[in-house]
Amino acid sequence: HAKAAGRNTFAVFGTHMEEILRRRRALESDLATALETGTQLAVHYQPVYSAIDGRMSSMEALCRWMHPTFGAISPDVFVPIAEECGLIQKLGLYVLEEACSLLADVQDCDVGISVNASAIELMAPGYALRVLTMLSKFSLDPSRLEIEITERVATDSEGKAAAAIRSLRDAGVRFAIDDFGIGTSSFGQLLNLNVDRIKIDKMFVDQLHENGGAPLVEAIVQMARHKGLKTTAEGVETADQRVTLTSLGCDNLQGFQLSKPLNRPNTIRLLSQQEQTRVSAVL
Ligand code: C2E
Ligand code: MG
Ligand code: MG
Ligand code: MG
Repeated sequence: HAKAAGRNTFAVFGTHMEEILRRRRALESDLATALETGTQLAVHYQPVYSAIDGRMSSMEALCRWMHPTFGAISPDVFVPIAEECGLIQKLGLYVLEEACSLLADVQDCDVGISVNASAIELMAPGYALRVLTMLSKFSLDPSRLEIEITERVATDSEGKAAAAIRSLRDAGVRFAIDDFGIGTSSFGQLLNLNVDRIKIDKMFVDQLHENGGAPLVEAIVQMARHKGLKTTAEGVETADQRVTLTSLGCDNLQGFQLSKPLNRPNTIRLLSQQEQTRVSAVL
């Protein structure tokens, strides 16, 4: 009897696995189609503010996919798929082009833009040239662009990503380490990467008011400052977090408490109303 039940469970599990695999294959080919047509994809922009004066300093470009039958799919799901099936470079270029064209559309505005780049993109030949070509296509100063990389880049032993970072930084492009503190690389490995900023992961912001939370963030901020790096706190959701992060010396703040990611029309509206690009200072 138990054997039968076991076999049954296995059969159910098997069907479930098949279903997952079928859906996954569908997503792979649908993502390729979405990248060809461009119609299901969009880029949203989340404002990042200066902690000191409350002015908007930059925006982070975040990719969105509206699937015709599955609905909105999170980038946490489709970015890894793109990485595994060779579509990440196309996706990265799509987002970069959208972001550059947005900046080019809004004249007389000095905010910067950041885009997320996968380690695979940075290691691919020609990455630095493709980025610089895109910037010049839209007549943008390279210093307007910041590229967010993850700790995975630090594990690239061949140094291909480091070479791409070096040539882009020489041209004026800035770099940030995203989701700082949650990866598996050591502080030493991370600091060997030549970057301009670290983005303190939301996890630390969530634990800010728990025991030991604030001293930990303070230590990260001090370490960054010692290395001449700026800090952005991610995932700021409450006014209390804003006050504490500002007093701990974080340079920039990003999170739903300040603004959610906005679609392109709303971003353009916000950028063209200079008055609105400032949130009220908290201190
Ligand atoms: P990320 O780069 O760390 O981006 C921050 C994520 O946190 C975004 O999620 C954003 O919407 C969300 N977020 C911002 N403030 C808050 C907050 O206060 N509370 C909460 N709960 N969430 C907040 P999103 O847009 O779903 O993106 C998830 C991740 O997908 C990104 O994390 C990034 O790693 C990746 N991603 C998104 N777009 C791209 C892209 O164009 N290229 C690549 N390579 N990765 C991307
Ligand atoms: Mg990011
Ligand atoms: Mg992040
Ligand atoms: Mg994240």
